[in-house]
Amino acid sequence: MDLSCVQSKNLLEAVQKNRVAEVQTRLRWQEDVDTIFTMGRTALHCAAANSFVETVATLLMFSPNVQLCDSNGYSALHMACSRSGPASGLIIEKLLAVGADVDSANKWGRTPLHECVVSNNVEGARRLLEAGASKGIEDSEGVIPQALAVRMNRAEIQQLICWVDGKVGASEFKPIQKTLTASEEREALTKRLAELKEDQIQELEMVILDKKVELEKTKKRFSKLKEDSGKRLEVARTEVIRLEREKAVFEVDERFKCVKLEKEIDRLATDICVKKMPEKNKYVVSCLKCPVCLDVCKPPLQVWQCPEGHIICGSCKARPELKTCPQCRMVLSGALSRSRVLEELARKTFQPEDEVNLNSGAVEVNRESWYGDDIDWD
Ligand SMILES: [Zn+2]
Ligand SMILES: [Zn+2]
Repeated sequence: MDLSCVQSKNLLEAVQKNRVAEVQTRLRWQEDVDTIFTMGRTALHCAAANSFVETVATLLMFSPNVQLCDSNGYSALHMACSRSGPASGLIIEKLLAVGADVDSANKWGRTPLHECVVSNNVEGARRLLEAGASKGIEDSEGVIPQALAVRMNRAEIQQLICWVDGKVGASEFKPIQKTLTASEEREALTKRLAELKEDQIQELEMVILDKKVELEKTKKRFSKLKEDSGKRLEVARTEVIRLEREKAVFEVDERFKCVKLEKEIDRLATDICVKKMPEKNKYVVSCLKCPVCLDVCKPPLQVWQCPEGHIICGSCKARPELKTCPQCRMVLSGALSRSRVLEELARKTFQPEDEVNLNSGAVEVNRESWYGDDIDWD
């Protein structure tokens, strides 16, 4: 079965939009043709009220209960009669053919024939009369269709009522003044208008009720969705905080381990360098050993000294806990100075490969850091 035509929210909407294929598909799916919508109306009421001939025909194929009345007592036949035009006549004929009650009365005691008079539906009235509609039924104000026709100045229908069946002729029908006075006509129209307004108000009230239910459902649904999202967000935030802390710990760990490894590499490289040196240079190297960290002061490490000439390497000089010279115990604060001669000696002893290519920019930078005018006199 082709479901592509199903685009309305329910059967009523499909009828309101006159989507015949969809109506047919829905009913083939076993959807109940007599489903009751707002104001007790069915799909058939709606199709008849809109003069949708084809939709009415489709609905009739699924054997709806044509006697069902809405909350104001209107049957589908009443609905069809309250409209005019050729479509209305065709629908009335179809409804009568499947046994619609030709004389059912609505909340105001009006029959389909009364409705034809009100809407001046001449063709409808003819079909009703041919189908045997009673002419003597009084509405709640005691008015029979013919009298109503006179009162509302529906000459054609009035004649039709007399012509189709002679029983209600001149004898039974007391001719009311054919032309209405202006005030009578105004009164009748005002009454009809009030009825229509009441209908519309009731319908709108039902719609409001539906919307209120929908609003409550929507609120509940979104409140649940928000609650779920909030919980997930809280879990995610906790996880973010945990991961940030973990990352910070890794960073500290990485720094610590890398510095340690770099120092070890440097120490081993120095060892290799010393092993390759001539014997006389090895003595110089022993003089360049920092008494604090026991590392050899080799370029680009700076060499510092206490007023007594005891050396300290540039790294140890930066350590805040080192307050006195480890050899002569002299207070170091403000007393340290660079040992340029030893730095020069270290440079010559280690003869960095860079030295060969003094013109290269990188080497210049290296030289700057060691020979530059960055003496810190504390
Ligand atoms: Zn040191
Ligand atoms: Zn000293």
